[in-house]
Parts: sequence; structure tokens; C-alpha cells
Amino acid sequence: MSDFTHVPGAVRRRTAVLTAGFDPSLSVGSARPAVFRSSTYVFASPEEAEHAFGITTGKIKMENGARADLIYSRFSHPNAEILEDQIVPLEGGGQYATVYNSGMAAIMTAFFAYARPNSTIVYTTPLYGGTTGLIQKFLAPLGVTGIAVASGQTEAIETAIRTAKNCSIVYLETPANPTLIMTDIERACEAAAAHPDKPVVMVDNTFLGPTFQHPLQWGAQIALYSATKYLSGYSDMLGGVAITDRAEIVQKMRSLRGMFGNIMQPDECWMLDGRLSTVALRMNRQSKNAQRIAEALHGHKLLSRVIYPTLFTDPEQKRIFEKQCDFPGGMFSIEFKGGKDAAFEFLRHVRIARNAVSLGSVESLTCHPRSTTHSGMSQQELAESGVTDGLVRISVGIEDWRDLLADFDQALTAVEA
Ligand SMILES: *Cc1c(COP(=O)(O)O)cnc(C)c1O
Repeated sequence: MSDFTHVPGAVRRRTAVLTAGFDPSLSVGSARPAVFRSSTYVFASPEEAEHAFGITTGKIKMENGARADLIYSRFSHPNAEILEDQIVPLEGGGQYATVYNSGMAAIMTAFFAYARPNSTIVYTTPLYGGTTGLIQKFLAPLGVTGIAVASGQTEAIETAIRTAKNCSIVYLETPANPTLIMTDIERACEAAAAHPDKPVVMVDNTFLGPTFQHPLQWGAQIALYSATKYLSGYSDMLGGVAITDRAEIVQKMRSLRGMFGNIMQPDECWMLDGRLSTVALRMNRQSKNAQRIAEALHGHKLLSRVIYPTLFTDPEQKRIFEKQCDFPGGMFSIEFKGGKDAAFEFLRHVRIARNAVSLGSVESLTCHPRSTTHSGMSQQELAESGVTDGLVRISVGIEDWRDLLADFDQALTAVEA
């Protein structure tokens, strides 16, 4: 995959994230953006106000996804615009971004932009619990039918897309949480492109993006993020991002965001903006750490499985990983032969990694999905997606991997005793 941004002749992504999108002269020469906490913006003339509202209400069409002048901070504000412009180069194939006050807010806005009454959404399962709830508990009663298909089943996913009637959205989350099952984005996009309804393909790219996986380059139209995780990276803020290559998509999502009032606030935008230049550094370290630890734990006598992309054995999963991902990432799961008791005993003895949900932070976090993040799933869904009693999920941070491994080893010894 090309390391260059979408602009011909431009610099590489890691340079662009520090140079594009922020003009110091608009922040009185400050080297870092100022925070603009204002709720409203002053117009130079009544004509200018009229023109800005014309754009925001869609009466005046802007070329190439250009923005209206600033009006009122629920629609947009300078820190959102700076963040949006600086984040685009990180997502290969991206042209436009919109930012939200959580990952769920970004996902919800994308769904509301494209779900129609009496339409279907084909989605891979398992999905993040909040997204499953949005489809099954909120959209279904409004007449939008979810069609679930197991992650990673390339042919079954193609068939589900091909046979879906009045299909508005194809929604993928890859790798799936917590078993890291990968779905072939390109194959799903080809099936969607061949469908007469031209469903919009959205990919939740929270686990491997924006550093290791680029859905838009495989043909997806929207890459979605919980910026709460790797993008912000310090377990200290909530945020969501949608990135697309289509002007009409960004216009629709901006307009809904203004209606819902779920834009990311200026202070959060400023914080996240400062974290963007280190996301690749952090994720590279997290991936290297996770790989060393997962491979070292592989084959441990208390564990029935260590789930990590470099340890995949299924040929289709290996194929997708090699095709689609630049690195295996900072998440792995271990499954105890001794079930829930052994898993809980392990969590009680781990000292460095903290027992918390969420992921992607510089500090390691570990949790028991079946009793926490995935406790809302039915018995059948749990069995199908491999979320067993003995499964523990680990989000690896940037600590020294040898200390983490020694800590996991002593916790395993304690489980044995
Ligand atoms: C956390 C998460 C979300 C939801 O994001 P919030 O920022 O908590 O709203 C969505 N998808 C995935 C894969 C996540 O991990």
C-alpha cells in the first residue's frame, strides 16, 4: 500500500500529519493550534451570514466537500476543522473527515445518513456491543433489518450481500473483538459494488487503523473510529472519527452532526490533534510488544489458545491478514483450559496490566470479555463467535515487553498453584 497521501507529489503520511491542515497565522503565529472555545462566530456582513447559512442548509452547493464559513460551534468550529484536516493523511485513500464526541456518535451518524425504512444492513458478527445494540434494538423497530453474517466467512459474506433485498449498508468490523477474526474488506466491497442498490460499505477500523489497515484503499466508502482507543491513546478522552473519499458522504454526515449536536468539543479536538503525530509510533511499539508476548505465551500448558494474527492457522485467515494488514497490532487473547475460574485467577494476579475494558492505550489493559464487554450476547452468539468462559483479552501498551511478559508468567504460575 502506498505510504503517500492522496495529494499527488505530496509528502508521506507521517510528515503530512505534522504539516498539513494547520495554519499558524490563524492562531496568532502559535506553533500549536489555539483552542477556540467560542460557541458563535461573527460575520463581516449580513450577506456573508446569509451565504454561510445557504451552505449549511444545503441551498448552496459547495464543490469538493468545501466547508461553510464558521457560524455556530454545533455545526463546526476551528479545532474540529484543524483536527479533520490533520487526520485525513493518516487514512490511506481518505479525503474528508468528520469528528464526533464518541465512537458510537460517529457510527450512529453514519447509519442515520444511509439507513432507509424497509432497507437491510448486512453486518459481520460479532460487532462492538454498542453497534449491535444500535442495529438490533434501535434500527430494527424503525424498519431497518439487520442481516448478521459471521466474520471471516468470505463466501458467506458475499452471498449475504448479493442476496440482501433493498440493501442500504454493508457494515464490517475487522479484526473482530475479542477473537481477532478478520474479514476480507475488498471482497465485501466488490460484492457491494455489484449490488443494484449500491449499499455504502462502512468499516469499523478501530483495532488496526489508521496505522496498519486502510479500508478506503480496498474500496470501502467510510472508515469509522472510536478515537477513544488507539487514536487518542491515553485512556483520557472519548472521541469518534469518520473518514471518507466522497464529498457527498461528508456533506451528509456534517449536516446530520449539526442536527444531532454530536460534534467533538474544541478542547477534545485540541487534545486528539496533538496525539495524531504519535499514533504510528505508539501502535508500532504496541504491535511489537504484543507479538513478542503472544508468541512467547503460545503453547503454554494452561492455555488452549493464544489468539494473535501471526499465530493464525486457518489458511483463509492467514491469507486475509497477509493481504490486508501491515502489522498484527497490539491486541491478543488467551484462552484458559481451566475456564472462568482460571481466567479470573489470572486477572487477580496480573500486576502491571490493569483490569479494565477499553483498549489502545499506552498502558496495558486486560479484561474477561464474556462477563463484561460481551455479556450482552446470547448463548448462541457467544458460541458462534468463540467468546468462551476461559477467554482473556489483552490490550498491550508501550511498557517494556519483558516486564509485561514476566508479569503474565508470574500470574500464570499463580493460576497453576
Ligand atoms: C470502543 C469501540 C467503539 C465505541 O466507541 P466509543 O468511543 O466508546 O463510543 C466502537 N467500535 C469499537 C471496535 C470499539 O472498540
